[in-house]
Order: sequence, then structure tokens, then C-alpha cells
Amino acid sequence: MCQKRKGRAWITINLQNLKHNVNEFQRILPKECRLMPAVKANAYGHGAGIIGKALWDMGIRDFCVASAQEGAELRESGITGQILILGYTPACQFEELKRYELTQTAVDYEYAKELNAFGEILPVHVGIDTGMHRLGERSDSRENIFKIWELENLEVTGVFSHLCASDGTTREEKEYTLKQIKEFDRIVEELWGRGLCDFKTHLQGSYGVLNYPGLFYDYARVGIALYGVLSSPGDQIAAEVSLKPVLSLSARLVCVKELHEGEPVGYGLSFTAPGEMKIGVVSIGYADGLPRELSNQGHALINGKKVSIIGRVCMDQLMVDVSEVKGAACGDEVIFIGKSGDEMIKAEELAQEAGTIANEILSGIGRRALYFY
Ligand SMILES: *Cc1c(COP(=O)(O)O)cnc(C)c1O
Repeated sequence: MCQKRKGRAWITINLQNLKHNVNEFQRILPKECRLMPAVKANAYGHGAGIIGKALWDMGIRDFCVASAQEGAELRESGITGQILILGYTPACQFEELKRYELTQTAVDYEYAKELNAFGEILPVHVGIDTGMHRLGERSDSRENIFKIWELENLEVTGVFSHLCASDGTTREEKEYTLKQIKEFDRIVEELWGRGLCDFKTHLQGSYGVLNYPGLFYDYARVGIALYGVLSSPGDQIAAEVSLKPVLSLSARLVCVKELHEGEPVGYGLSFTAPGEMKIGVVSIGYADGLPRELSNQGHALINGKKVSIIGRVCMDQLMVDVSEVKGAACGDEVIFIGKSGDEMIKAEELAQEAGTIANEILSGIGRRALYFY
């Protein structure tokens, strides 16, 4: 690949690895459970259009996104299956729900009435709050939940909840998760008991599947793990799966220079050369999604060697210590997520160095990068 074409910062997506991860999830999920990949936030920075299309080609027909706009963009890229909006859509955008044939989450009874007042038939999934206390009608407000079925313009095609501690390994977190699962199952049974049967159920995200793989629902809303990434490097999971990272992130070494003892690097003089050293300037910064928290913390790979970020990460550039990289030269590839020789930096590790989780890093990168599939 011509270096010039790749430009200053680029993302490489490995669709074989995505397929591998899809197969792994289909292997550990009950046979009847269908994957409903979360392709929100530009498919966690992987590119929603192409990821959606690739998943479609693998037989996936159900997707979830965060907003009506994300749903519309997915439709525009040719996806014709079910697209569920997990978040709130304001009334002024109800027209878009209809136009793009999107399925909206009824985030509570009050909102369901608003949707109903739009006056056109809309498919909805009823969100139930079983303990996360984010979206969803409170599970102890049973009457409000049941009343959603009486709204004449809403076609309830799904019921779901969200687990808020399924990644946890403490007793408290496990007990809380089991409580949420039990509460969700009880509500589903009560709905069935009322003769309301014509809806799909879903509860698990990535960690819900990885830590509670035996549960039986119609869909699994898998996001982060489908991209071959966990939230944090040390996360323990119960299921036996092999996941392969789909995304790598690179930029270019654009300038190499010598520094003498006592000379500072970058804004705010936050790094000072301890002696003679060689530094490199790299064409990527926080506007590309590499958080400023990586200042004097993060690492990258050049020609199979691990190098340290020195000084503050700037908007469009950052500096690394290349003293140990023989022959480091202008034009070299600098890898922030991915492999170089025997070395590898995972998204989880970069996230940890930035004091966050891989989900936040991935969903924030790529605003200015070129994509290669
Ligand atoms: C983002 C999201 C998911 C996917 O979560 P992952 O942990 O990335 O698998 C599932 N359900 C809801 C409601 C979400 O908001």
C-alpha cells in the first residue's frame, strides 16, 4: 500500500476477525438466540456502514444503535433488517422513525404515550428498568408496563432490559445481576400470562453473554466483544471463547530530532530530556481520538519496538522517545493499537493507560482517520 494513500493516521479493519468473533458468539449462544450487534458510535469506531454490511453478509439481520440518526445512516448504507434504537428519540424526529422504518425503544410509559400520539403505527421494544436505573420503565411499575400494550399506535415487537454489573466478579455484582435476570424473567412470564406473547426478548450485552452464557433469550445485543475487545485488560470471563481484535490504529513518524539534556518537549514543559536522546513527532493527536490522558503515559510500536509517549498529547500530534529504535525515520508506521513484530498493544491496554475502558477509546477514534478494510 502506497504510504501517501494512507496519509497521516489510519485505521485498518480485519473483517476475517469480525467473522471469527461472530462465529464464536454464535457457538456459545443458544442455537435459537440471534445476535443483534451494537453498531452505535460508528460501530465503536470501526465504521458503521461497512461493519453493518459485513455483518449482513454473515447473515445478521438485527442491529441496535443509539440514535435515530445512526439508524438512518445504517439504512442509507443499505441495511434492510431490523434496526432498534436503544436510546431516546425526541418527538421532532418521530417522522424519521417512520421514514427509515426504525424500531424505537419505549423508554418508559410517559414516553410511550408521546410516541403513540404521533398517530402512526410504530414498532417499539419496551425497555424495562430492572435495576440499572437508566432507561426503561421501572420494573415495579407493572401497571405502567402493561398499559404500553394498550396504546393503539404502538406495535410492541420486543421487551428488554440491561444488566449493569454483568462484567463484575464480586459476590455483590453477581447477586445483583442474578436479581436483574430473575426480575426480567418474571415480567416476561407475567406478560405471557396476560396473553401478550408476540414479542422478542433480550437482556445481555457482551459481558452478559460472556459471563452468563446459559441464559435463553431471542437476541443478544453484543457490542465491544464482537470487535474482539474487552473493556479492561484484566477482565475475567466465564465463557470459553477466543476473540480476535478487529481494529488497528496507526499514524506516521513525520520528524525525528536529537534532544540535549534538560530540553523540554511539548506544551507545558511536562517532559524534560534526562540526557542526550532522540525523539519522534507522530501525526496523530487527541482530535483523532487518542486521549490527552496518554501524555507521558501511553506507548506505541515502531519497527517492532515499544516506545513511550513523552510530553503532552497535542490536538494533531504527539511526541515519542525513539532513542532505542535503530534507524527510526520519517515515514515509519507508528502503531497505537495492533501488532508490530513480536510486540502488540491491545485497545484494552491503551485504554488502561488513559485511565478509561476500551469502549470509550474505540467509540472516540477515527473521526479524522482514513479507513482500510
Ligand atoms: C451499548 C449497549 C449494548 C452493547 O454493550 P457492549 O457491552 O458493548 O456489548 C447493549 N445494550 C445496551 C442497552 C447498550 O446501550
